[in-house]
Amino acid sequence: MEFPTIAVIEDESIIAAAVAARLRREGFRVEVAPDGPTGVELCERTRPDLVVLDVMLPGFDGLEVCRRIQRERPVPVLMLTARDSETDMLVGLGIGADDYMTKPFSPRELVARVRALLRRVRKFPSPPDTTFRVGNLEVDPARRQVRREEEVIHLTPIEFELLYTLAARPGVVFTREQLLSEVWGYREGFGGRTVDSHVGALRRKLGPDLLRTVHGVGYAVEAGGY
Ligand code: CA
Repeated sequence: MEFPTIAVIEDESIIAAAVAARLRREGFRVEVAPDGPTGVELCERTRPDLVVLDVMLPGFDGLEVCRRIQRERPVPVLMLTARDSETDMLVGLGIGADDYMTKPFSPRELVARVRALLRRVRKFPSPPDTTFRVGNLEVDPARRQVRREEEVIHLTPIEFELLYTLAARPGVVFTREQLLSEVWGYREGFGGRTVDSHVGALRRKLGPDLLRTVHGVGYAVEAGGY
């Protein structure tokens, strides 16, 4: 991600051009789309590292774009809104954007927010795709299997995904929101209950000590196994 690619999906051409020019000056690769359908297609094709997304768009709106691109692959989204009240409403809906800016905004502020979002993502690099060990378990991403002494432990797909996400980065504490985003691929408003109950299921299957509860924060797999 030395030169991150940023998709700018914005129908107001003056704003789109100004944002693109500023981001290019900062060293980013920038792709621009003027409406919802083209924006989704652009994200599928270029797999950007971050998306700057206007809410009001022709075709379908930014909410629908956000849903579609997040379904494909989680990507940080900076949403552009017309009013602060619109931002409040969207945050309440939990539509999956990571940050919001109300128009008009300063290009300097936009660049700062883009950099902050990219830094946050880089703290959590992609997990390995080869088999690795955690404690007495073998986690096999290719087969999506967990084994203990050659014996396969049956996990549901979402349980596997949750374990894999945590175990691939031992010692890293994930908040419930991060797990919702990474494992479930979205950020709904319903909070951490889903995460808690799946962690409970994993503990029943794998033993109580693997997944550590970090009180008031979230969950982690101990560095160095358990
Ligand atoms: Ca617009």
